Amino acid sequence: MENKRLYSPNYIREILNKYGFKFSKSLGQNFLIDGNIVRKIVEASHITEDDYVLEIGPGIGTLTEELALNAKKVVAVELDKALLPILDETMGGYDNVEIIYGDILKVNLEEIISKKLGGGPVKVVANLPYYVTTPIIGRLIEENLRIESIVIMVQREVADRMTAKAGSKEYGSLSVFVNFYSVPEIALRIPKTVFMPRPKIDSAVVKLKLKKDLPDVNRDEFFKVVRAGFSKRRKTIINSLSTDGLGVDKENIRSALEAANIDPKIRAENLTVEDFLRLSKSLPPSDI
Ligand code: SAM
Repeated sequence: MENKRLYSPNYIREILNKYGFKFSKSLGQNFLIDGNIVRKIVEASHITEDDYVLEIGPGIGTLTEELALNAKKVVAVELDKALLPILDETMGGYDNVEIIYGDILKVNLEEIISKKLGGGPVKVVANLPYYVTTPIIGRLIEENLRIESIVIMVQREVADRMTAKAGSKEYGSLSVFVNFYSVPEIALRIPKTVFMPRPKIDSAVVKLKLKKDLPDVNRDEFFKVVRAGFSKRRKTIINSLSTDGLGVDKENIRSALEAANIDPKIRAENLTVEDFLRLSKSLPPSDI
């Protein structure tokens, strides 16, 4: 197997020709062709032989194979039916790999984790099409699924937004969302050249370590305040929350900002997650 590892471009072409496979742009199919990157992604996941891994979008199994060599068990969810016979061949020799056909946004993750992944905790690894990045991260971190960490390939610009600190121009509601649920870091920056076919944009691998204890706050209200705060980035927080955002009387917002010890003239991009938490707790629920 060693001389036929799946990241070899020649081997990928051979396999794809054998099955008459055509890349689907709409499913974001850009397969990894660089063994170093494959190894580094798995290293960034800190996977050991005791770990249960959920992979999203295995493609022909390039990352899956490296995961299988390091983990106890890998369950990989793939949406393209045309890849299933290929995965049968490429993963056939690994008895700790199970492929599930389905859309990661729709499959029953609770059941997969409890029945096939030892009940968790689970490490998620994914080289995903970019169109599902935000909804899938939302699903994985909001649904309380006994997931320990997520290592995910995203557009470089999205990685920068996810990991941005308050005060930087990339900082926005996505940064607050991700930092509320996890400790994010950029594990690797990935050039376009390591994919077949080559995409137009550069990527990055982000690692999200999910927090065990989440802040005690009404999340619907909290995220409503965050979104309203960023709805008009150039306005001061008092204006973005009162006029457009929450449609609440300015004086109520002023009192809440005062109670939360926040200067009404600063902008949302300068508020940390903790600032937003204090602010949302200071606003009467009837105002949110
Ligand atoms: N992991 C492989 C690699 O690194 O070479 C393939 C990565 S490719 C960027 C994304 C994979 O996700 C494709 O195999 C695609 O068919 C699959 N995919 C796309 N949308 C999906 C979804 N909603 N659920 C599960 N898999 C999906």
